[in-house]
Amino acid sequence: MKKSKKGFLVSGEYLLAGPDGQAIENGAAAVVSDKILEVGTYDELKERYRDLSDLRRPSGLIMPGLINSHTHAPMVLFRGMADDLPLKTWLEEHIFPAEAGLNRELIALGAELACAEMIRGGTTSYVDMYLFEETIAQVTKKAGMRAWLCEGLFDFPSPAFESGFEALKATRNMALKWRNDPLITITVGPHTPYTCSAELLEKARDAAAELNLRMVIHLSETRWEIEEIKRIRGVSPVEYLDSLDLLCPELLAVHCVWLEEKDMDLMAERRVNVVHCPESNLKLGSGMAPIARLIEKGVNITLGTDGAASNNDLDMFCEMDTAAKLPKGTDQDPSVVSAGQVLAMATTHAAFALGRKDLGVLAPGKQADLIILDLDRPSLRPCYNCKSQVVYAAKGSDVTDVMVAGRLLMEKGELKTIDQEEILGRVKEIKSVFK
Ligand SMILES: [Zn+2]
Repeated sequence: MKKSKKGFLVSGEYLLAGPDGQAIENGAAAVVSDKILEVGTYDELKERYRDLSDLRRPSGLIMPGLINSHTHAPMVLFRGMADDLPLKTWLEEHIFPAEAGLNRELIALGAELACAEMIRGGTTSYVDMYLFEETIAQVTKKAGMRAWLCEGLFDFPSPAFESGFEALKATRNMALKWRNDPLITITVGPHTPYTCSAELLEKARDAAAELNLRMVIHLSETRWEIEEIKRIRGVSPVEYLDSLDLLCPELLAVHCVWLEEKDMDLMAERRVNVVHCPESNLKLGSGMAPIARLIEKGVNITLGTDGAASNNDLDMFCEMDTAAKLPKGTDQDPSVVSAGQVLAMATTHAAFALGRKDLGVLAPGKQADLIILDLDRPSLRPCYNCKSQVVYAAKGSDVTDVMVAGRLLMEKGELKTIDQEEILGRVKEIKSVFK
């Protein structure tokens, strides 16, 4: 295809446009530089934007790129290493020992494999918490994805840092280094209320406030965590974080499976964002987050895959499918949590949590982060309702084209920024490192 300096006129069979994701038949978006200039029908736009490169996909469904609000990208290296185990055994006897063997080179390999998987699956932005996060930032930048990244903070030494305070110092340096980058944003990542001291949690909170950064924490994931925090602190993990002034609109609280009524009220009042990771919670047998209740209370819910070791993939289409079906089963009510609500969790709600109203929507002035699904698949015809198709029938493998900030990262199924063959060649050898 001939490349134009100015941008693309992206068109397909349908385009999900505007905040409500209205499907425009024979829809198109004019993309200039990193932004969407206009959306409409192809016939309307093609005359006005003759100088743009035609990115035409006659059977394509054009939609906003998906935002994975929680993962640990390099954990793709541990995919399938230890399955069917309770979280504590899985973490302490398998994952922590494997992580002890990590170094920058392995992190870079894992991050690049994760970026390849995410781009292929239509994820354009992700929120990550892991180790050697500066390396992950560099890999992500090279891959052309958008990301919010934090170094995990713990009371004990990590393979990357001697202490949580050292990791926090590195977080500050990363935040300064990347502060003007259009794609990479640094966040502050205290791991959990039980792996961080009150002092570390407070220092993390202060750094986030001072540098105007988002904060990410795993919260109320297992029944064990609730019992442990109640035993030590005398209150629930949510109440404990509130007593330390950590609950705020800048916080992304991941999991939130075990919540009492008063916890949910507190989270709504403090306008905390909840990151729902249903597949990881199910696989680790942690439980099922009360999402329908949280939505009723007006809590902003986003969606994440969590790391590939507890999922075991980074496919946001599968995550949306699970997120929409799970509450129907637990509440025995098929009308709770609609396809549209779940799609919003993976797009506009995530953008809101990250303070980026220019993401998650295809509309004039928004960032050109978009993906195209090929509807000419046996599993995607007929197409009565685009949102239902996206949430209940589509898979990441149905994505053919991915654009972030106006740059094509995948075109007709071919990755443009990552040498997939080279990465897969190296990853095949990884088993010998960790066994
Ligand atoms: Zn996690």
